[in-house]
Amino acid sequence: MYEPVIGLEVHLHLKTKTKMFCSCTLAYGDPPNTHVCPVCLGLPGSLPVVNREAVEKGLMLALALHAEVPAFTQFHRKNYFYPDLPKNYQISQYDRPIGSGGYLEVGGRRIGIKRIHLEEDAGKSLHPEGVGHTLVDLNRAGAPLVELVTEPEIQSPEEAREFLVRLQAIARALGVSDASPEEGKMRADVNVSLRRPGEPFGTKVEIKNLNSFKSVQRALEYEIRRQEKILRSGGRVEQATLAFDEASGKTFVMRTKETESDYRYFPEPDLPPFRIGKEWLSALKDRLPELPAERAKRYQRAGVRPYDAEILAYDLELAPFFDEALKTGADPQKLANWLNADVKGYLAQNEVSIADTGLTPTNLARLVQLVEAGTITGRVAKEILPEVMKGADPEALVEERGLKAVTDEGAIRALVEKVVAENPKVVEQIRAGKTKAINALLGQVMKATRGTAPPDLVRRLLAEALGVEA
Ligand SMILES: [Zn+2]
Repeated sequence: MYEPVIGLEVHLHLKTKTKMFCSCTLAYGDPPNTHVCPVCLGLPGSLPVVNREAVEKGLMLALALHAEVPAFTQFHRKNYFYPDLPKNYQISQYDRPIGSGGYLEVGGRRIGIKRIHLEEDAGKSLHPEGVGHTLVDLNRAGAPLVELVTEPEIQSPEEAREFLVRLQAIARALGVSDASPEEGKMRADVNVSLRRPGEPFGTKVEIKNLNSFKSVQRALEYEIRRQEKILRSGGRVEQATLAFDEASGKTFVMRTKETESDYRYFPEPDLPPFRIGKEWLSALKDRLPELPAERAKRYQRAGVRPYDAEILAYDLELAPFFDEALKTGADPQKLANWLNADVKGYLAQNEVSIADTGLTPTNLARLVQLVEAGTITGRVAKEILPEVMKGADPEALVEERGLKAVTDEGAIRALVEKVVAENPKVVEQIRAGKTKAINALLGQVMKATRGTAPPDLVRRLLAEALGVEA
């Protein structure tokens, strides 16, 4: 039995007006090389200036992830050659990152965060079809990034994906990054090794540039199977940097890994270390909004089960909706059930966000309250949900269509007796011990009442009529 040991390295584009070290504006999708200047082109004699907004946003993320922020921070040069890196080095951070030792909780388990640091992005190489050479677009060169490295504490591909989903929600809640993988504003590299429980770490393999959370999970699943096969047959896993091919779902070798010394890190001579004062930090702390983890705790205090509370709290679309619905006084757990199951199902099926529907928090709360008060059955509520999602008032719908729950026991009893009389074969089966067949009769009664009969009551009356246990 082998267990996977997984670590993540995540790059997030910081949402700032200008680049990390110059005053070029950040624009995505503009014509190539229209947002460049001597600094981000790496022209001799140009000098970088640190973007305060980027530092503050990076610090806010560090604080939100419970990282320790040092009193002094510093930038380093990371030297390597690449056609889209005009300076031949990247300004990054080395031994004085803006954050270290934080954590992010996933399903009640803390995943350690080794470090959080600031750096600049590279440009983009383009390979247009029919052109025999490579073109370079430097609009992205110098864009501010925050890089986050986890401890190797993630235990499954699923947990890796969950970690990214939560990190994305935190970054968005803070407003520090759009964190959209589809726009390249959130990129993840993963490393994974296998070991027998309790044994030292095995040889790890890195998989680069995964452009969706799903790819992260798929690539890890594939890689774990691959390594397991090697180890089982007595082989050894080679250390390597791999890429993931979306189409085949397989990993392939990209290059052998550079070691740290290849980068010849040294302090950036054009940017002196700078102090992160206590006052500055506490002002930034004051700017932190309610974070998803805190929100989940608030939902739990309101009476929502931990599992549902966490799902809702990290859903930045549903959470504000839920907050509004809570104000109506409807049962918090029941509201959460509706949102996490039926409403989410509707949104996924119709590929819309909740803001694009006509559902209001008040109408959802009314629906919940109608069921709770016994005015309608859960089944009727589910049936009218699609219309309520389109803006219909649930009470008006119930009134209009006569969908109120039948409370007249005599009327239901008469129906039950009719159904029993009409289905002698099923009745025989039930009396012979096949008690599950009672559901067939229940279904018929429910159908006859258009779902307005309370199922529990129908079940009890059926059991009575048949002389079996309910
Ligand atoms: Zn520039």
